[in-house]
Amino acid sequence: LVSRKKHPEDTVLTIGDVRIGGPEAPVLIAGPCAIESEKQMDSAAQLVAELGGKILRGGAYKPRTSPYGFQGMGVEGLKLGRQVADRYGLQFMTEVMDTRDVEVVSEYADILQIGARNMHNFSLLREVGAVRKPALLKRGLSATMEEWLYAAEYILSGGNEDVIMCERGIRTFEKWTRNTLDLSAVALVKQESHLPVVVDVTHAAGRRDLLLPLAKAALAVGADGIHVEVHPQPATAMSDNEQQLDFAEFREFVTGLNL
Ligand code: PEP
Ligand code: MN
Repeated sequence: LVSRKKHPEDTVLTIGDVRIGGPEAPVLIAGPCAIESEKQMDSAAQLVAELGGKILRGGAYKPRTSPYGFQGMGVEGLKLGRQVADRYGLQFMTEVMDTRDVEVVSEYADILQIGARNMHNFSLLREVGAVRKPALLKRGLSATMEEWLYAAEYILSGGNEDVIMCERGIRTFEKWTRNTLDLSAVALVKQESHLPVVVDVTHAAGRRDLLLPLAKAALAVGADGIHVEVHPQPATAMSDNEQQLDFAEFREFVTGLNL
């Protein structure tokens, strides 16, 4: 179902007033790593909307390396994300980590994000295949093209055809970046599949200074959208404080990208 051989035309998804894929202009997906407070989300959403972003992101359930790290606000966060997105006319995307949360996340979100660490969680993929909400499927930390496309196939085969593929960098031996952005994966998936592909430059690079050149490169290889994290005070963020852009940097990033 994901193959271009079966479906030669690019898939264009319609999510509220946003269209993504095929001939559509690239979409900007932005917001804080984690939903932390009303004030934090409101200020970020206002700026995302002002700069032409269409999709507000923010995690209410966070896949943290340490069990003692901030795990997210849960349902309270979902409610906040929904309210704030509506306030600024944005679509709301948030991660679902657990099959037991698919229902409640679907109730509040416009797009269900499947994180890199859950790309191989086949029961979660099946649950997301069973709902009628678009899904953004991140590539696993060390997933091959075949594994990533089969993960998407799990969702489509359940009847949910609205899948966005998201390249977010893979683990390599390199330590100067958090992950290695695999741009060949973007070109390859666009060639092999009809699904839209976006690039998450934040988690790929793990450092602010590379985000703009990586985003430009992603668009040059045909990405249908760019995903980036922005936070009012990255230094005090509850997660990913090394890599989120502050408001001035985000403004510079979006202006430089010229979507
Ligand atoms: C995220 O988008 O906040 C996230 C945890 O990303 P990834 O699953 O790509 O690590
Ligand atoms: Mn993050």
